[in-house]
Amino acid sequence: MNSSRFLIPTLLVCAGWLACPVPPAHAQLAPSPDAAVQRAAAAQKQPLLATLKEFVDIETGSRDFEGIQQATELLGNKLKALGGQVQFIEPQEATNYRMMDTPEKIGRMVKATFKGTGTKRIMLIAHIDTVYPKGMAAKQPFRIDGDKAYGLGISDDKQGVAMVVHVVAMLKALNFNEYGTLTVLVNGDEEISSPGSRDELIRSGGEHDVVMSFEATRTANDKLSLATSGIASVELKVEGRASHAGAAPERGVNALYELSHQIMQMRDLSQNERGLKLNWTVSQSGTNRNVIPAYATAQADVRVLRVADYDGIEATVRERAKKQLLPDAKVTVNFERRRPPLEVTAANRKLAAHAQTIYAELGRKLEVDDQPEGGGTDAAFAALKTQAAVVERFGLQGFGGHTADNEYVLLETVEARLYLAARVVMDVARGKGL
Ligand SMILES: [Zn+2]
Repeated sequence: MNSSRFLIPTLLVCAGWLACPVPPAHAQLAPSPDAAVQRAAAAQKQPLLATLKEFVDIETGSRDFEGIQQATELLGNKLKALGGQVQFIEPQEATNYRMMDTPEKIGRMVKATFKGTGTKRIMLIAHIDTVYPKGMAAKQPFRIDGDKAYGLGISDDKQGVAMVVHVVAMLKALNFNEYGTLTVLVNGDEEISSPGSRDELIRSGGEHDVVMSFEATRTANDKLSLATSGIASVELKVEGRASHAGAAPERGVNALYELSHQIMQMRDLSQNERGLKLNWTVSQSGTNRNVIPAYATAQADVRVLRVADYDGIEATVRERAKKQLLPDAKVTVNFERRRPPLEVTAANRKLAAHAQTIYAELGRKLEVDDQPEGGGTDAAFAALKTQAAVVERFGLQGFGGHTADNEYVLLETVEARLYLAARVVMDVARGKGL
């Protein structure tokens, strides 16, 4: 730690006084941890691992409605036992944002509210669903081996669910209730871009002073993230007219020709200096070699770093699509904003800087990353309509999310991350870090 940080304010304050106090001897030493919080974190380590096993044992693919019902039931009971007012939010109560891959039935959310004696409103979020189809857990059951806990979905994001439960348990054990409201919100549709939970996340995010999101941090970087990518997709559909490719090609309208023209005229829409990317990745057309194709479709992947960039890129795509090669073809554009970006703000910078000082109490260095890694998370929905601090990656250090192979979390980080999250809640409740 830079000692001048302590000395300069002291000198400035002294200038107006006749006698300057001597800086206390401990001023330049590393800050010491809160022993009670440290003990509470240590006491939660084994219970957290037991909770992790329980949640890993229940398969919860985003399309596994039964699994999500079962896991949310378990989670609801745990939060109730900790004194929370628990509510299950069925997706039909939320406004579903249906995308091309949105399943018929979407898993419910669990929302728990804890009332305290203070004024600050703090929300902890995580997701219970995974990317894996049912049946895969048999190959990756929960197991502890050395300094790692393995299991399907353990890093993304069962550890996040276990973390929020045990951060609340720690606060309860410490008799800490100086917050106004502590909210836990866990959804079951994050991996399919949160079609049923986005409205609740946006609304709840707007009602809190701080949102802490519990996606895992990487094994290589013990960090918090202030920014994530916004993800959209473009689906282009072309309807032409089928005809015999040998006998009467002139009577057809070749959807493949129109689609090819559209893709070629929209291949230069990326603006790398803005972090805006549009790339065509999927296409399909035609049924038989000897038939002029009547249909053709293509999809593009879109990434943005700023919410405002969505409007520009969508307008450009719609405008370009009007320039057709074949006037008789019908071209339709479906632009899906699957997830907004999380943007760096003064508020999330300040909270993360405060979190660094808390981590330093343990002698640990916490990185703060203000560059998106390319992926998107629900923190961005929580931040969409608020200027409050929303910070991502309060979870454990984990590895192997979305790979179906050897997913694990590092056990060494459990106590430190519990300490960090609990202390951030406690300090925010007392008006620090805001
Ligand atoms: Zn996740």
